[in-house]
Amino acid sequence: MNLPSKEKTGKKPKVKTVSPFLSLQMGKRVVCPRCGNDWHFYEVAEDVMLTTRYIQNADGSFTPQSDESSILGEVKFFCGECNTDLTQFHNRLMEMLF
Ligand SMILES: [Zn+2]
Repeated sequence: MNLPSKEKTGKKPKVKTVSPFLSLQMGKRVVCPRCGNDWHFYEVAEDVMLTTRYIQNADGSFTPQSDESSILGEVKFFCGECNTDLTQFHNRLMEMLF
């Protein structure tokens, strides 16, 4: 005897309580291992070369055209609360910077 009705009820749809999108976002948060801060951070770039292009006008005055900055040294990443070096998380910042 076949019981097709029993086979149907045996498959229950899985209900996800947390959306995949939310869990992904939460899992990506950087947390300071020393003080637990996960809101305030800062970045320090060493040896930045700033190039500004100018046009000299007819009256001898100058007008800036564009700024270009090149980071020649290291870029470090710190906790904004306790100043712990979090450079190991800097790639995360680059990935999540919008
Ligand atoms: Zn901290």
